[in-house]
Amino acid sequence: MAFLELDVLNNDNKAILGIDLGTTNSMVALFRDGRPQVLALEGWADARIPSALFFDEDGTVAVGREARAKAVDEPGASMLSIKRFMGCGLADCENDLSNVPFKASESENGVVAFDIRGRRFTPQQLSARILKHIWDVASDALLEPAPLRAVITVPAYFDDAQRQATRDAARIAGLDVARIVNEPTAASLAYGLDRKKEGTVAVYDLGGGTFDVSILTIEEGVFRVLATAGNTHLGGDDLDRVLVGLALNEIAEQLDEGVKRDPAFLQGVRLAAERTKIELSQKPSAELAVVAPQLGLNWRREVTRPQFEELAQPWIDRTLDACRQALLDAKLKTKDIDEVVLVGGSTRIPAVRLQVESFFGRKPKSELNPDEIVALGAAVQGHVLAGGTREVLLLDVTPLSLGIETVGGAVAKVIQRNSAIPLQATEGFTTYAENQTGIDFHVVQGEREMAKDCRTLGRFKLIGIPPMAAGMAKVAVHFSIDANGILTVTAVENSTSTKASIEVQPMHGLTDDEVEVMLEESFAHARSDFDESRLVNLKVEISTMVRATEKNLHFVADQLDRETRDEIQDAVTAAKKAREGQDFAATQAARDGLEQATLPLAALLMDSVAKAALAGKKLDSF
Ligand code: AMP
Repeated sequence: MAFLELDVLNNDNKAILGIDLGTTNSMVALFRDGRPQVLALEGWADARIPSALFFDEDGTVAVGREARAKAVDEPGASMLSIKRFMGCGLADCENDLSNVPFKASESENGVVAFDIRGRRFTPQQLSARILKHIWDVASDALLEPAPLRAVITVPAYFDDAQRQATRDAARIAGLDVARIVNEPTAASLAYGLDRKKEGTVAVYDLGGGTFDVSILTIEEGVFRVLATAGNTHLGGDDLDRVLVGLALNEIAEQLDEGVKRDPAFLQGVRLAAERTKIELSQKPSAELAVVAPQLGLNWRREVTRPQFEELAQPWIDRTLDACRQALLDAKLKTKDIDEVVLVGGSTRIPAVRLQVESFFGRKPKSELNPDEIVALGAAVQGHVLAGGTREVLLLDVTPLSLGIETVGGAVAKVIQRNSAIPLQATEGFTTYAENQTGIDFHVVQGEREMAKDCRTLGRFKLIGIPPMAAGMAKVAVHFSIDANGILTVTAVENSTSTKASIEVQPMHGLTDDEVEVMLEESFAHARSDFDESRLVNLKVEISTMVRATEKNLHFVADQLDRETRDEIQDAVTAAKKAREGQDFAATQAARDGLEQATLPLAALLMDSVAKAALAGKKLDSF
């Protein structure tokens, strides 16, 4: 698409931009003159670039500030918060779709797509437009073409699909991604915490629409994200809504029903509420005004800081609950935290600062502008990657466990959640059926024990396994996550080196808050999941034993006395019956009974195998 092509192709600038690609606002920074600097156009009061798009009737598309301004009057033609849809399938983001004025459908490769004014756009394409605009802003601010290489930040809880979608967006925009870096890691870099020999940092990030808290450790300049928690639908916008509610309540009688639902009117009230909220961060009281002369409305009231804080308290409490959860996950106590870093515009609220301070028992770092920290940190990382002198190695974590579905539907976890990346892990698997020449691999992500309760990342097939007895083939499944969090799964059959692999693409996507839901569900279902997977694995074991018993009994039946044969037969029947039930104890007893009954058969087989081996026969002929 022509509009996405950059007009500067021979950009030999070796520097690397730092881009904070945010849900509501983005920002760009570059390391210059020995320090990271935010890039903004002259005359801008602040450097925030709204992550907004506006689609005009005549086909033109406005981006950034212009789009945000137009969206106030015509919310039905604007696209906000595109970050929520990155790497998402249609079913995954239904809740967020209600805020989008465009028709959504699923594209061929399973990601959500939007029909906007007769054209179809994926979130990657829309995000690419924002990235292109960010690059334009950077170039205008620098008065020369900005570097085409960039470090882009993403939330620590972004999964593989979401990270991949971010890379795709950058590629479409003509940018070369030097690295995808976690936002809390970037925030820590901005404060130079990488220079600490060792320590533990809590990064509390309360923006407009999202909240997350991450716990990181630093060891010899190496960052590791120990845990993240949060809520992707909690932020300053909620506090605006609280004030909007307050206003609408008081003017309800003066408004007819149509006006109460009019998007432009509501947007105006929301902006007034946000102004009041921001003023309350500086003053003990502020005016909340809804003025609409066309409706004959001129309503004003004073809101005091204590009144606002009382309304805001439930939201602040929820952020502190997430801090507790993150500490729990990181197996740390508040006294173990050496530094607290505040990120996001809403951390300017005095009550938020005070309560975060009293929760962690230490003063948070707040010297830097909380809107700029992430972009500054990304620029620091860009500088290092471009060969700059600040030695720092970044390690991040994978937010959810990754594994393979095994026979019966249980999950074999290959990588545990919160493992530091980049990392590699290999697990051995085998065939379940006789002469099985192919294996279907189902790669899943999540904390639940059964694959059906986890999220599908992808499927692939390994074919060309030589026919062998069940359980004889040796297949190594190798998981590799690179520094950008992109997962590659490779399966290799040992004897032939037959190989198949998959690189995870944004097939099904996952919204950010689903990560939280998945974690919560895994806690809620821990017991029943354990029971279910234990029973499934036991049944799979019984099936294997029954099959082997029946096959081998057939070979050596004449060498066993009738009583033993009957005993084995009865045990097989009992095991098959138990396999149909749900009672773990009874199934276990039937399995043990089968094992006991087949001891003479096993002894006989061992004997035959030994003799055959001596006679030079191949073992698998049994
Ligand atoms: P961010 O997503 O980090 O840009 O944060 C934007 C959020 O911070 C919005 O909800 C703003 O209303 C809020 N915000 C910005 N400045 C202030 C302030 N001084 N006091 C309270 N909230 C603020």
